[in-house]
Amino acid sequence: MHYDSITALGIIGLLIFLFLYIVFSVLRDAIYFFLIHYFGLVNLFILKEEQQNILNELNKINYYKNLSVVGKNYFYHRVIVFMINKHFFGDGIKLSDEVKTYISASAVQLTFHIRGFYIEHIQLIRVFPQAVWSQMAQHDVKGLTTGGGVMWLSWPDIKKGFDFPDDGINLGIHEMAHAFKFTLRCDHSSSNRICSSIRNWSNAAKSSFLKLQEGDTSFFRSYGATNMEEYWAVNVECFFEKPEEFVQLYPEIYILLCKVFNQNPLNASNDYQLRNK
Ligand SMILES: [Zn+2]
Repeated sequence: MHYDSITALGIIGLLIFLFLYIVFSVLRDAIYFFLIHYFGLVNLFILKEEQQNILNELNKINYYKNLSVVGKNYFYHRVIVFMINKHFFGDGIKLSDEVKTYISASAVQLTFHIRGFYIEHIQLIRVFPQAVWSQMAQHDVKGLTTGGGVMWLSWPDIKKGFDFPDDGINLGIHEMAHAFKFTLRCDHSSSNRICSSIRNWSNAAKSSFLKLQEGDTSFFRSYGATNMEEYWAVNVECFFEKPEEFVQLYPEIYILLCKVFNQNPLNASNDYQLRNK
């Protein structure tokens, strides 16, 4: 073969490799989910013993327990995809299947009805045995989500969030709500469906945010008054943990959150779908 032909073939091969690499990087989560959910290749990614541990832990989570058989299977497979695509690091704590399952379930619950959405912003999840000192915040924090894709979580507080599922406090949901917004990178002109729903929520929620800042903690907890970003995360916690009260007190912003997450926590008998099929 002529030398020029070999060089040309080499360049084409390299371009094909780069193209496939980029496609895989962008669609990695979707590809894993496809292989696991539609081809049943769970064993390829996770040991049988771990699979059983994950299912045992999921069976303790209210949101998961209320799902149909089909919904449970979908949730479980999404948890596995989240788990294998994020880097978990135990900072003074053993990373058991229990720890990883609860954290992953927080993300999956939030995005359960949003197709192909795995909170890509988060790359590294550091788990601690207690609240830790944050130089940035200048006080101990139970959780933190940085713009650089790192999440800090205090394990006892993650667990507590699920052990008390209707008190409006859930650290996992709270931090994933921050990470969800970081992933979307919405700006004022974003035409993305979720971004415009968040914008509508933000406009509608201003008056209740001011009420909270003035000291009315009859529904939302005072931490939400810190700023609009914390108010968002506290709203999302209440959306999942106190939906009946939420919809009665603030129907407009509840419905806008339903649109953001394409689900309705009050529709537990129908896998939390926004609209019944
Ligand atoms: Zn927060």
